[in-house]
Amino acid sequence: MKSIPRRSFLKFLAFSTVSPSLLPAIANADDCKVQHPIMPPDSRYPGQCPVCGMSRPMWARTWITFSPVMGVSQACSFHCLADWALKSGQDPQRVMLTLYHQPEKSIPSEKAFIVMGSAAAGTMSPVSKIVFAARHEADAFAKTCGGTVVDYSRALLTAKVSVAQENQMINKRRIEEGKIVEPKQEDSCVVCKMVPAHYSYGKCQIQTKDGKTLHFCSTQCLFAFLGRQTAYIDAPITPLLVWVVDRTSGMWISGLTAFYVIGSSRVFGPMGHEAFPFALLENAKAFAVENGGKAVVYGDVTIDKIVPQWKYNTD
Ligand SMILES: [Zn+2]
Ligand SMILES: [Zn+2]
Repeated sequence: MKSIPRRSFLKFLAFSTVSPSLLPAIANADDCKVQHPIMPPDSRYPGQCPVCGMSRPMWARTWITFSPVMGVSQACSFHCLADWALKSGQDPQRVMLTLYHQPEKSIPSEKAFIVMGSAAAGTMSPVSKIVFAARHEADAFAKTCGGTVVDYSRALLTAKVSVAQENQMINKRRIEEGKIVEPKQEDSCVVCKMVPAHYSYGKCQIQTKDGKTLHFCSTQCLFAFLGRQTAYIDAPITPLLVWVVDRTSGMWISGLTAFYVIGSSRVFGPMGHEAFPFALLENAKAFAVENGGKAVVYGDVTIDKIVPQWKYNTD
């Protein structure tokens, strides 16, 4: 049988008496590989994922917003949404998912049809989760590009199960690409000049917007620096990302979504009083119960809460 040329087929659809919404949407091979990340970054979509630091102008197609959970209200992807849900111990509510092929639009999570594991590229996970507003669109996409159509709760659950393993792979890549820089013997703490490489749980760092890395021996030095940069450097920098080490796993984690135990009178770090970082809120709370202090979020940590009567040398 001769196949119908695509143009004639479209014409047939256009004049068909059947309502277009009842017909399967046409997905073609181009739909499987739309430009993702968006290059150049599109500034119509402002925002940054606090879990991984990636920017919405590039990764708008998989962006997710939700009611704030301890100050966090957006994530670049299901991976980072699941990561934050596990870290905070709370599933985000009133979740809005961006349509992959229309990044200017988002829909409530309960109305979404998600194609999981297709040929389309994901943002943080090798198993992409592509959001559609209509079942027939998701089905047509899966038929052409592969994958399975699932609902939001299934996609989130799958992301949660994969988070730990994916984070290990992602961190390995970040170190290879210089997005996290392991301090070397010759690197010194910007604040106290000690050697961060000697403190495997104290070391932390700031990545600046122009690609520089500032190393610190401890969170005490990090937050002293953030409190008043000009006490330590001449030209203030704009932090893009902060990396700290999870006290439970020893892994690098985003300092912006870490939980910190401050005020412990029994455990001390490289500089004495510290804000001890944890990936999971429950681990931070358990540490505080055992060692004193309380668990707080990044935005609530200041140097004078870490060190009572803190004074800069210049005061
Ligand atoms: Zn992210
Ligand atoms: Zn230091």
